[in-house]
Amino acid sequence: MIYKNPYCRTVRRSHLIIVSCGHCKTDLALYQKAGRGRLLRMYIDRIVKGAVDLRNKPGILVCPQCHHQLATKVTLRRKRTEAYILIRGVFNAREVD
Ligand SMILES: [Zn+2]
Repeated sequence: MIYKNPYCRTVRRSHLIIVSCGHCKTDLALYQKAGRGRLLRMYIDRIVKGAVDLRNKPGILVCPQCHHQLATKVTLRRKRTEAYILIRGVFNAREVD
């Protein structure tokens, strides 16, 4: 994960997880997750760093290793935040100790 996310903001009371590609296991993003429950989307401003360059906020997230699509960008009306909706079953998420 070589790209620092320039839009990252520190999220209080969050924990760090690593999201990886479900096809080839490549680590894709270090993410500040708030709350419990399954990961359904990644807010762009909570991504710390990634294997993908987020400076231009690409419309889809593609694994740089195997080129499978893993997520689609959406703009949420609430707070006008941008997020990546993860495609079910094509990624893994694990806690960082
Ligand atoms: Zn992959």
